[in-house]
Parts: sequence; structure tokens; C-alpha cells
Amino acid sequence: MFIPKRVIFEKGSLDTEIGKNIYDKIKDNPNIEIINATSNKINVHIPGNNLFEQYRSGKQTLVVGTRKSLKFQTCKPSANYQLPLVSGCMGRCEYCYLNTQLGDKPFVRVFTNIDDVLNKAKEYIDERLPKITIFEGSATSDPIPLEPYTNALKKTIEFMADQEYGRFRFVTKYNDVDTLLNINHNNHTEIRFSINTPKIISTYEHYTASSHNRIEAAVKVAKAGYKIGFLIAPVFLYDNWKNDYKDLIKSIKQQLPSDFDKPIMFEIISHRYTTKAKNRIFQIFPETTLPMTDEDRKFKYGQFGYGKYIYSKEQLAEMKEFFISNINDVFPNNIIKYII
Ligand code: SF4
Repeated sequence: MFIPKRVIFEKGSLDTEIGKNIYDKIKDNPNIEIINATSNKINVHIPGNNLFEQYRSGKQTLVVGTRKSLKFQTCKPSANYQLPLVSGCMGRCEYCYLNTQLGDKPFVRVFTNIDDVLNKAKEYIDERLPKITIFEGSATSDPIPLEPYTNALKKTIEFMADQEYGRFRFVTKYNDVDTLLNINHNNHTEIRFSINTPKIISTYEHYTASSHNRIEAAVKVAKAGYKIGFLIAPVFLYDNWKNDYKDLIKSIKQQLPSDFDKPIMFEIISHRYTTKAKNRIFQIFPETTLPMTDEDRKFKYGQFGYGKYIYSKEQLAEMKEFFISNINDVFPNNIIKYII
């Protein structure tokens, strides 16, 4: 659960149910500064003289406000639309794509008008009838650490349960799932857990849940009847990577109930970076040990005019073969969606 250092309430947000709920939860905590913003200039309340400081202050800041634009972004290929419930994330993963997305102050923002967002989702579903419309809840955030404050996922899951043609999915590196266990999801929501080897988590995924806790949360939601999946990402090909990823796959199996026989979905993504991301990472994490030597990678031109540095063709082929064989060995009943 996210425990911020400061909470900024935008105008009108304290009159909403979510705003009041957040205020009640934090008001007696002397370590949390409460700020009532009178203008839209949120950044003036977040300290920091340079990107390094601004990043850290931003990650400790929760902004409570209304979602003004109700136009949803598309979200191909994993879904049809992004569902904007939260933006930003308390985690500080060194390689995170949000580092280049959220500007100089990557604060966490929750939206108080979830009903408006869900009404809009209904319009998008109706527009596409009779096709199923899939919404992704974690395109610009990890919504789970905010759930104890907002119940936004709970509301969305219950809303989607009633939508014959609507589906919902999100991915997380956290484990605050208890409020999602005893609700009606009608099998319309899929929860994926992003996992990695203990070495990668402890080196690069700061302020996230441990691999054990994430798998434990996955077991809880699986027992509650949700479809579950694991996103193994980003995969790093370091010394001994095969042993570590093999152990990771086995540890999922060990934690699942022995009679668990539902299909488990896997998505595997190798580490990649752009020059823009690399430059930003060096400003935010000057001591980073992320492997980002361009000469060691293959440059792949991207569709949006910028390219990525990826592992070589041979390395990717080896990685693919490794994951297919190890996942098939341990989970005969699996669905590997992609390995890239
Ligand atoms: S948990 Fe996910 S969204 Fe949050 S910082 Fe890490 S990679 Fe980014």
C-alpha cells in the first residue's frame, strides 16, 4: 500500500467519496503533509531542484483530482482501450517506461470521478457491439497500491462483471489484492503479476513487493476464480540467468495449490531501451548497473521514429527456447502469449 509523504487535494476533490476516504485515512498521520491546492499548478508543491530530487519527491506524492478528459487512449495489442483509473506509480523501477512518460515530477494521481470513467467505458463497449471490448487498467500506472484508498479496481471489476461485452485486465508488481477476493467478477477480469528473479527485483525494482509476495497474491486471486497470468519482464541475460529464471518458474508452481489445474498465461519480454530512456535513467539513477551498452545490443528501428536497443537475434532465440521448454515442463496447461 502506498504511504505518501504528501497528499495534494485538487479543488473540489475533498467533497467526493474517494477524496474523503483518502483524507480520513491520512489525517492522523503526522508524517504526511496535506496540501489543498487552489490552482492547477501541482508542481509548485513538489520540492526538488533537479531531476534526481524531483523524481524522488514526485514518487512520494499523491494527487487527488478529477479526470477531466474522458477520451480513452487505444491500447494495442493487449487491449482495445486504456482505462484511466490512476496514473503514476509508487515503485521506483530503474528501467520503468514511465520514467520517460511522466515528465519531471512523476507523482501518483488518483481520479475521484470513477463513475464518469466507467460510464464512458460503457459508451465505448456499446460503440463496438457485438464485439468484445477489452480495457487495460495499468497502461500508465500500477493501480494496486492505491486500491486501499480508492476501491477503483473493485468498482471496475464489479462493473465489468455486468458487461456482457466488456472485459478488464491489469498487471501489477504488488500484492494488495484482499479487497478484490470476495467480489463478483464473473470471469470478466484477468489479473497478471509482473515477476522477476530475486536478483533483478532487489537490484532494480525498488519499493515493489517481493517475488514471493506477488506469487502469493496471484494464488489468492486464482483461488478467488480470476484468470491469472504472469508477465516475466524485463528478462535480463546476465550470468546464471537460466538457473535463476528456472527457479522463478518452479517457485510459481510450488506456491500454487497442488490441485490447481487452470491454464496460466505467460508473457515474456526481454530487456530493451531507447536512447531517450537511457539518458533519463542516468539522471535519475546515476549509479545504475542496468546493462545499457549500445555496442552489446542490436538496434531495432521503431514505428514511432525512435529505435530500441534489444538483445541479438541469437540471444533472443536462446531465450525463447529456454522459456518455452521450461514453462512447458512445469506448466503443461499453459498459454504462452508471446516471447519477445
Ligand atoms: S511497478 Fe511498474 S509502473 Fe511502477 S515503477 Fe515499477 S515498472 Fe514502473
